[in-house]
Amino acid sequence: MRYLSTRAASPDASAKSFCDILLGGLAPDGGLYLPESYPQITRAELDAWRGLSYADLAFAVLSKFIDDIPPADLKAITARTYTAETYGYCRDGADAREITPLRWLEPGLALLELSNGPTLAFKDMAMQLLGALFEYVLDQRGEEINILGATSGDTGSAAEYAMRGKHGVRVFMLSPAGRMSDFQRAQMYSLADSNIFNLAVRGTFDDAQDIVKAVSGDAAFKAGHRIGAVNSINWARVVAQIVYYFKGYFAATQSNDEQVAFAVPSGNFGNICAGHIARMMGLPIARLVLATNENDVLDEFFRSGSYRPRAAAETHATSSPSMDISKASNFERFVFDLVGRDPAKVRGLWAEVDAGRGFDLAQTPYFDRLAEFGFVSGSSTHADRLATIRTTYEKYGVIVDPHTADGLKVAAGLRSAGVPMIVLETAQPAKFEATIQEALGRLPQRPQALLGIEQLPQRVETLAVDVQAVKDFIAARLAA
Ligand SMILES: *Cc1c(COP(=O)(O)O)cnc(C)c1O
Repeated sequence: MRYLSTRAASPDASAKSFCDILLGGLAPDGGLYLPESYPQITRAELDAWRGLSYADLAFAVLSKFIDDIPPADLKAITARTYTAETYGYCRDGADAREITPLRWLEPGLALLELSNGPTLAFKDMAMQLLGALFEYVLDQRGEEINILGATSGDTGSAAEYAMRGKHGVRVFMLSPAGRMSDFQRAQMYSLADSNIFNLAVRGTFDDAQDIVKAVSGDAAFKAGHRIGAVNSINWARVVAQIVYYFKGYFAATQSNDEQVAFAVPSGNFGNICAGHIARMMGLPIARLVLATNENDVLDEFFRSGSYRPRAAAETHATSSPSMDISKASNFERFVFDLVGRDPAKVRGLWAEVDAGRGFDLAQTPYFDRLAEFGFVSGSSTHADRLATIRTTYEKYGVIVDPHTADGLKVAAGLRSAGVPMIVLETAQPAKFEATIQEALGRLPQRPQALLGIEQLPQRVETLAVDVQAVKDFIAARLAA
């Protein structure tokens, strides 16, 4: 399987293998990597996959995309990644062996629990695999990587929990000092692993992000210190997420003749992009329901054909903060497919995006193709989230987090008879106590394993908003 850039002038000349793109980010031409074609799943394969454990299913799916890791090694990697220990200890009472248990709320409506991993959000599903893959490839090559990132909470902690203790990998994670919840701080800063470095910057998340951009933009420093990233455009994260669409489908249906719909709380379009690829592979998905919060750039696109990314200053801070995104970094992957995999067309559209104008496909044949790809969309507000959290608790006795509530709210209006709607549960309510308190007048239960986490000793270095100070910190740790 070869990978090409969505903007490649000449796909064949620049095609890469899986391990070649694993450690990188964007393609050199600014595009995103995709397989040169999507593997097609036969009916016989689908039948054989139905009974597999999560780890074996992950191996089966990943094998379709990875041909430069020996099968026995890949199988060992999925077996040690998708374990009940990693995906079970954080939800009391769930069946940890399922890794992603399906919970029916009523006939035709279910939650697929993706947030039973160590940081209580679905990002653990892919990030844990990434940690194992990084370690494997770096060991093989005798190389090291220093992951530099900025986080406002979720992604940084998922990356740290995935990379802790991995050889060849160090993580330098910047966070805005004093701007995360006590719980988020405790989750990250209490890690005692010697390859994890927390840097609290005396500024905002945007300041931290700007420092990361400045350090990564210094080509000499980047190469000399082997700086890398694990952001949401990483192809391995997308491919790992394809697995649970298959798992969810098998759990919700009796036979491979049935169809399902998935509703996906969306921000950077990474999660639902994996659903799109599962569908392109032949999984019987009738509909992909994209749910946004008040930051509804993607909902606007799927309704009108007009893509108008907004500036950071126009992005609303909402109570489903992991979806507060107005420029969806993975969206280019879907548009590449939508325009018939024409890289020249993608280059033209993204020239408009980069110029701050965006683009409008309403008057083009592409707009009519959106339905062919199964996409529908909707958006949700703070009031919708509170109401959904309340009614879900009253009707089913289940507490959902605010992001999952956005998914449930949008899904409610788009169900059709005979097609089960599977809403992806992207976080546990314990992560968002304040909003649950506001909706229900009570706190969600916290998993046993995380009680008292705020009392653990914390390790964090506080720095000024200063690019040089961050570079000096990294250089000193590499010399040590
Ligand atoms: C990251 C995240 C999302 C959005 O996922 P994308 O892949 O960026 O679309 C939704 N909910 C939660 C809880 C998240 O952490």
